[in-house]
Amino acid sequence: MSDAAAAGYLKTLFLHPPSYEGFDGGAGSRYQARREVRSFWYPTWLAQPAALVPGSRLVDAPPAGLRLEDVLPLAREYELAVLHTSTPSFSYDVKVAEALRAEHPRLRIGFVGAHVAVHPEDALAASDAIEFVARSEFDFAIQEVAQGRPLERVRGLSYRANGVVRHTPERPTLEDMDALPFVVDVYRRDLTIEQYFIGYLLHPYVSLYTGRGCQSKCTFCLWPQTVGGQRYRTRSVAHVLDEITLARRYFPHVREYFFDDDTFTDDLPRAEAIARGLGRLGVTWSCNAKANVPYETLKVLKDNGLRLLLVGYESGDQRILNNVKKGLRLDVARRFARDCRDLGITTHGTFVLGLPGETRETIEGTIRYACELDPHTIQVSIAAPYPGTALYREAVDGGWLRGPDLVSGRGFQQSALSYPHLSSAQIFEAVEAFYTRFYFRPRKLWAITREMARDRRLLGRRLREGVEFFRFLAQRGR
Ligand code: SF4
Repeated sequence: MSDAAAAGYLKTLFLHPPSYEGFDGGAGSRYQARREVRSFWYPTWLAQPAALVPGSRLVDAPPAGLRLEDVLPLAREYELAVLHTSTPSFSYDVKVAEALRAEHPRLRIGFVGAHVAVHPEDALAASDAIEFVARSEFDFAIQEVAQGRPLERVRGLSYRANGVVRHTPERPTLEDMDALPFVVDVYRRDLTIEQYFIGYLLHPYVSLYTGRGCQSKCTFCLWPQTVGGQRYRTRSVAHVLDEITLARRYFPHVREYFFDDDTFTDDLPRAEAIARGLGRLGVTWSCNAKANVPYETLKVLKDNGLRLLLVGYESGDQRILNNVKKGLRLDVARRFARDCRDLGITTHGTFVLGLPGETRETIEGTIRYACELDPHTIQVSIAAPYPGTALYREAVDGGWLRGPDLVSGRGFQQSALSYPHLSSAQIFEAVEAFYTRFYFRPRKLWAITREMARDRRLLGRRLREGVEFFRFLAQRGR
């Protein structure tokens, strides 16, 4: 008897399906697209329910380089398959589900992720292979399905019965975040952590969440408006530190831990308490932050092992920040960038082109702003109107939606938005100009060269990433 059967569970496969080559679109990726350099976030949203289902297995196909023919034989080994999907990858994921079902006709298949949470009917209508979809937070809903509970008795599901779509009542929002099990057990059991790269993080790294939700109301941001909520619900400090302690035992060679909460700094006293605990453990760590953290808190974090902050600056135009309800002033962000530099905190700045109010002049202003802030590294993305976001509704009302596709047929991000004064092609082209002008400044080139000269390991990695980056730009242009 298998572990799953012994514990009274269906034998369950959690799958991030094979997708476009180099596609970072797993259950941990905030916007799904092929990246500039090899990048993969951990499939944390799938690891959480996987940790609740004894005898399950998590397969993250893209980082492992698995193609459809590699995962198909798995279908026969399982009774239930839970696939994480996204808006850009949905049609591809449906094909995978249909192939799994053809391989094993009795396999039960459910989809999870923000895309199906927003449009459960459409998702179920896409294919008979999808038996159910889970809406919003799905951890315990999936656990109940895996326990064999009838779908009509599992809250937070949509399913088809006699050709009709039915919705069970919403699940209450999860408040006791310590009820979520540690994901590092699943990482150790099912993943090869060396396959996970993020350009600006040390390698190997491990990322996990210490809470869900974000108290900001950015109109373009998917998770807080769909699966996470606009309130920061957190695990206790002790629970987080216990998981990091365990992770260090499992992965002694990990060089950095990343807290991928939407905004880890939403609760400053808690962030400081976790930092102090991490300082005692002696780990190097990084996290997402909003560009308004005061100097005093930054100092506590830095003094306790913080290496890098991932910061969403988004735009250098105050009107655009106001349009998207970022809740951030440019002067505050400038002070924050200065404080980080003074304290020796590395920053990775993220910028978005094509948000409402964007013009050729504001793009120019944002490029100058990025050069002035001078984060260590940057990411430039294209505004993506995901269904379920306020930006999507605004785009529909404003007639800006050029088409439904957020990525091209090869997984490259493309602009689904087009304005009367700024076309989608102009937004697309501005990304490359942004990168070029930011990185090909004498000051930046000198900083990169110095950094590589100091660290031989980094030298090899940066050279590889440089080649990948130029290949990415060339392919994207084509
Ligand atoms: S602050 Fe960041 S995580 Fe929070 S809603 Fe805005 S973009 Fe999303």
